[in-house]
Amino acid sequence: MKERVIVWFRRDLRLADNPALRAALDGDFDAIVPLFIHAPHELGAWAPGAAQRVWLHESLAAFSEALEVLGSRLIIRQGDSADVLDTLVEESGATAVYWNRLYDPLTIERDKKVKQHLEDNDIQTASFKAHLLHEPWTVETKQGGPYKVFTPFWKAVKNRAVDTPLAAPTSLPDVWSRIGSESLASLELRPKIEWDRGIRDTWSPGEDGAHERLETFLEDVLEQYDDSRDEPARYGTSYLSPHLHWGEIGPRQIVHRVEEWLDDHRETKTLRTHADSFLSEIGWREFSHHVLYHFPNTPEQPLDARFKDFPWSGDDEGLRCWQQGCTGIPMVDAGMRELWETGYMHNRLRMTVASFLTKNLRVAWQHGERWFWDTLVDADLANNTLGWQWAAGCGADAAPFFRIFNPARQGERFDKQGEYVRRWVPELADLENRHIHEPWKAPAKALKAANITLGEDYPEPIVDLKESRREALAAFDEIKNDD
Ligand SMILES: Cc1cc2nc3c(=O)[nH]c(=O)nc-3n(C[C@H](O)[C@H](O)[C@H](O)COP(=O)(O)OP(=O)(O)OC[C@H]3O[C@@H](n4cnc5c(N)ncnc54)[C@H](O)[C@@H]3O)c2cc1C
Repeated sequence: MKERVIVWFRRDLRLADNPALRAALDGDFDAIVPLFIHAPHELGAWAPGAAQRVWLHESLAAFSEALEVLGSRLIIRQGDSADVLDTLVEESGATAVYWNRLYDPLTIERDKKVKQHLEDNDIQTASFKAHLLHEPWTVETKQGGPYKVFTPFWKAVKNRAVDTPLAAPTSLPDVWSRIGSESLASLELRPKIEWDRGIRDTWSPGEDGAHERLETFLEDVLEQYDDSRDEPARYGTSYLSPHLHWGEIGPRQIVHRVEEWLDDHRETKTLRTHADSFLSEIGWREFSHHVLYHFPNTPEQPLDARFKDFPWSGDDEGLRCWQQGCTGIPMVDAGMRELWETGYMHNRLRMTVASFLTKNLRVAWQHGERWFWDTLVDADLANNTLGWQWAAGCGADAAPFFRIFNPARQGERFDKQGEYVRRWVPELADLENRHIHEPWKAPAKALKAANITLGEDYPEPIVDLKESRREALAAFDEIKNDD
């Protein structure tokens, strides 16, 4: 009798370049059971947040449909992963379970236990690399040990060969009818009150949506990426982050497709520079996973231990204003409102609002990290942790604490025409460009001409940027010489 295999899909919701699925197809199996287990309780505090759940619903729907087109279907179950696998092994007579590896600490711990449990029951297991270009344990400094600085990390890996992506299957064996699936709706991933329209209107979750994003990016953005990536009003980056998070596209597919595209379009030095700049962002993603793998307590604890004693302010009211985009600082409010509406925020703004929260308001970075976790469609434990610790000055290769972004200067530099602010803070739409990033400094005449009464139509700033900067530096002085 031929044997059966379960392919346990997690954050690898794609058919192409999916090594676990490919190994199942190439193995001596007569049936493949594609399984998704909804087990948020196994991820503790880092179970998918509200925006991620909206994405996951759509992504699972797209993936189910894609499997059905090939003659298979997705089996959805809920519960403890080990129990669900036991049940499905029993129901299907499977002799093997395959999956692709993930790198966040609770998943690693869970997967180790599941693997041991299955092997104890004579079920063959195999796991594969799909989520990263290089395994975190294969990269180490000359002295041995993990990297904590991006540039040498990327230098060490950027010229390493990247495996050729695997083709998508053209057909899949049927999953026989007696294997039942729970309905997608039963996972209750969608909110009861429909606040998620903005997210659903902005994005196309799923493998097809991911490849469309990549192709549009290559055609419209890549040749100017290094310039456009910092200007939030422009369509200047790839918007691939949520697709990468859920594994609807893998990093090696991106790397190979970029190289192929360069081959097809006479590669110039400038084009190469833009492409390298984009690929180095994929490198930052690798780096953040490297750091999370080697320092698994960083989602909660600062990598730089001095920051355990940092005198954070505990400013709850400031945190609330920041979350709601009503701080009275236009760039900060624009970023926070983009996030609320679309589940995404431009990187320049992520850095700006994170610096404002942790430095001008002196609210502990973990609060910002948590808000992002719940509101970002691309919320990712590795990238979010690195981003917050970077902005707060306490992480790997972090911006030094004394580098405090001035949101008004950021606006003048990267949103010169105030287009981004006008898009997300329409109360200020009629204010002249020269005042748009600092309405509190605008003369009364200019405010009147734009129909704005500060404190009524738009808030007065909740902090003085200069004064709060000075206080943040004084707070840092208290810890900077600690060991
Ligand atoms: C405070 C803060 C929090 C962040 N939280 C997240 C998060 O939860 N999830 C997330 O994916 N990114 C996070 N980032 C990183 C970055 O802002 C986003 O990856 C990027 O804005 C996504 O847009 P894009 O796909 O258009 O990026 P592109 O510029 O097109 O970059 C391509 C890909 O490279 C990766 N990448 C880009 N910048 C970074 C970076 N700085 N660190 C790690 N990977 C990067 C992403 O996977 C991205 O999709 C955070 C940054 C900061 C400062």
